[in-house]
Amino acid sequence: MSRDGRSRTRTYAAGAVALLAFATACGDNGGAGGGKAAPAATTPASAAPRPSGAATPTGAAATPGAAPAAADAAAWAKWNLTPLAPAPAPPADKPIKLERTGPVPVFSDVKTSDKVVFITIDDGAEKDPKFVEMLTDLKVPISMFLTRDIVKNDYAYFKPLQALGNHVQNHTVDHPVMSKIPAEKQKSEICDAQSALTQQYGTAPLLFRPPFGDGANTPTLNTSVQQCGPRAIVLWRESMQIHGMQYQSGDKLKPGDIVLAHFRGPKELKGSTMTQMFGELLARIQEQGFSVARLEDYIQAPAS
Ligand SMILES: [Zn+2]
Repeated sequence: MSRDGRSRTRTYAAGAVALLAFATACGDNGGAGGGKAAPAATTPASAAPRPSGAATPTGAAATPGAAPAAADAAAWAKWNLTPLAPAPAPPADKPIKLERTGPVPVFSDVKTSDKVVFITIDDGAEKDPKFVEMLTDLKVPISMFLTRDIVKNDYAYFKPLQALGNHVQNHTVDHPVMSKIPAEKQKSEICDAQSALTQQYGTAPLLFRPPFGDGANTPTLNTSVQQCGPRAIVLWRESMQIHGMQYQSGDKLKPGDIVLAHFRGPKELKGSTMTQMFGELLARIQEQGFSVARLEDYIQAPAS
């Protein structure tokens, strides 16, 4: 009713839609949901030969940038994949601009007309060396939302992934349901993870993701995040299951969508490996004509 109330509501309304994310958040049992199963991660789409020197990508539409080099094609072939179209150059004027102080925004996608999506990978349980090899080969950008107590037995695993340009972000100390714990405990969950990740990876996480997406739009969690350093709460529009994508709404990717995946292995993926899951994720993205961009390239950090 009051103006006061209205403005508070407006502050937190931006991500309201993302509450839908709750049901399929990370930490669920994974295998149940998830669209159509696809037998193989390959798509034949852009295999057609083209005259040397021609930069026109074959296959799906909006793909500015050069065609993948032969060396890249070989790297993708090693993983039974055809190269994703390269992402366009990141926008100079960032669609998301973060402030140094005040309430943090909550978002599950990025406003852009670029035909890109963003991959985020959570928790950190599976530490498969093959996945490091895969990303080193493919150079697909990811953002890593790490849970301290899930990664602390091997912080080093994530360093080569970070060295590829991928950012480490905050996903709490031990993955609680945030709305079920008091503000002080929320704060220690976020602040203690923030300091451990900062110390281990040499840079302070800019983004926070609550486990299960829970509590994202509550003033209490927003305040807790503000007290610990991250300057945004990031949710998602799709989550990758073992073979297929689970959509929060609709049944296809949209430009700027944030996709959730997990560091998971055969135990959680019914026998599939992390690299198989990731290959299928890339195939699901590719078959819809999207490429993968780096989330942090679309976000302007606060001026220091
Ligand atoms: Zn999680």
